Amino acid sequence: MSITKRWFINVASIFFAILIAVSVGVFFLIRAYYYGAAEMQVKELSYGEVSSIFALYGAKNSGFEEAARQYVDNYQNKDKLAVWTINSKGRVIVSSNGFTIREAVDMPDYNEAISNEEHSAMWVGKLPSGEKIMAYTCAYYYENGTLAGAIRYMVSMDAVDEQLSVFAALIIIVSLFCFAALFLSGMVFVRSIVNPVKDIGATAKKIAGGDLNASIDSYPYNDEIGELCNTINDMADKLSESDRLKNDFISTVSHELRTPLTAIKGWGETLQQIGDSDPGMTSRGMDIIISESTRLNEMVEELLDFSRMSGGRMKLNKEKTDYLAELDEVVFAFRDRTLREGIEVNYNVPADPAPGMADPSRLRQVFINILDNAVKYSEQGGKINVSAQISTEYLEITIADSGVGIAPEDLPHVKEKFYKANNTIRGSGIGLAVCDEIIRLHDGQLDIDSVYGQGTTVRVILPLDVNSNSKENTENE
Ligand code: ADP
Repeated sequence: MSITKRWFINVASIFFAILIAVSVGVFFLIRAYYYGAAEMQVKELSYGEVSSIFALYGAKNSGFEEAARQYVDNYQNKDKLAVWTINSKGRVIVSSNGFTIREAVDMPDYNEAISNEEHSAMWVGKLPSGEKIMAYTCAYYYENGTLAGAIRYMVSMDAVDEQLSVFAALIIIVSLFCFAALFLSGMVFVRSIVNPVKDIGATAKKIAGGDLNASIDSYPYNDEIGELCNTINDMADKLSESDRLKNDFISTVSHELRTPLTAIKGWGETLQQIGDSDPGMTSRGMDIIISESTRLNEMVEELLDFSRMSGGRMKLNKEKTDYLAELDEVVFAFRDRTLREGIEVNYNVPADPAPGMADPSRLRQVFINILDNAVKYSEQGGKINVSAQISTEYLEITIADSGVGIAPEDLPHVKEKFYKANNTIRGSGIGLAVCDEIIRLHDGQLDIDSVYGQGTTVRVILPLDVNSNSKENTENE
C-alpha cells in the first residue's frame, strides 16, 4: 500500500471521524442549550398567581374551573406562551387565545403530571397541525386529594428548530472546510515526502544497475530526506571513487607484475641464446632474474596480505618482542640500498629495550614498507631520520624523510586501500593500508604527516608490555 493511501487511512479517516463526532457533539450541545433556555423560559413564565387564586377554592374541594378561567383571563404573557386549562377528565376548558377546543387532544405531559409526584411534566412534540411545541403541564389537587385539573403552557419550537438548522448547516460547512484544508495540506506534505523518496528509489536502482554517476537532484529542505539524499549522493560518489581506485589498482598491479615478468622472460631468452659463452653476462642475467623474482614474490605476498586483511583473516603470531630490535634489523637491511641511491639515514634510537607482545615478522613488514616509501619518494641526496622515544606505556617510532611529500588533499586518503597520491612511482597503493591494519591489530597507531615538497613523517605508536612473556596467537576477527 502506498504511503499516500496509508496516510489517508490512518490520519485522514481518523480526523474525519473525530470531525464528525465533534460536529455532532457541538450540534447537540447547541440544541441542548436552546431547548434548555426554552424550558427555563416556559417554567419561569408559568410561575404565576394560579396557586394563590386556587387556594380559595382548594379548601372547598371544588371551583377549579372558575379559578383557572380567572387565571387564564388575567395571564400576562399570552404573547409568549399559550395557556390551556384542563379539567380532571383531561378536556381542555379554556385556552388563552380564546378558541374552544372540543376534540380530545393527546397530551403526554398532562398524563405524566397527573401521575407523578411533582405534579408537573414537560413534553416536546408535534401537534396534529404539524407545529412543534414544548408543553409544560402543572396538575392541581383539592385539599381532599382529588384531582382538580391542570394548567398547560405551550411554546412553539419551530423558530428554535429553524435556528438549529442554520447552525447545523454552518457546522457542516466549517467541518467540510476543515477536512478539505487538512486533506490538501496533508496531500502536499505527503507528496513532499513521497516524490523525493521515489526519486531516491529510482536513483538507488540506477546505482545498483552500475550507473555510479547517478545522483539525486537538489532537494530544497535540510531535513531527514535532505540528509538521505546527501547520503545517497555521497555513497554514489564514494562507490564511483572506489570503482575508479579499483580500476587504477588493477592496471597498476598488472603493470607492476608485467615489468619484472618482462625482465625475467627477456633475460631467460638471452641466457638461452648465449648458452655458456659469456659467464659475466650469465651471472648478471641470473642476478636480475633472481632480484625480479624476489620483487614479484614480494608483490604477490603484499596482494595476499591485502586479501587476508580485507577478508578479516590476517593472523598474528604474537610473542614477546623487542620492537627496537626489529627496527634495527630493517634499518640495517636498508643500508646498501640507501647508500646506492645516495640517501643519508640518521638512526637515533634509545639503547634500552622496548618490549611488547607483537608478531615480529609483521612488525618488520611495517617498518620495511615505511622505509621503502621513504626511499622511493626521496631523491638523491635526501635524508631519512629514524628515531624512537620510550615512555612508560608507549614506544613512539618516527621515520621522517625529506622527499617529495604528500599534497594536503591526498594526505587524509593515503592510508586507504588502492589510494596512490603519486602515479609516477611504482607501487600498488595498498602498502600503507596493510601497515595501518597490522599496527591496529597490535593496539597501536600509525599517523602520517607531510609537507608537500618538503618531506613526510610517519609515526608508529606501539604499546609497551613489560610483564607478559608468553606466546599467543591472535586472529583478526
Ligand atoms: P604505494 O605502494 O603506492 O607506495 P602506499 O600505500 O605505501 O602505496 O602509499 C600510498 C600513497 O601514499 C603512495 O602512492 C604515495 O603517494 C604516498 N606516500 C606514502 N609514503 C610516502 C612518503 N614517504 N613520501 C611521499 N609520499 C608517500
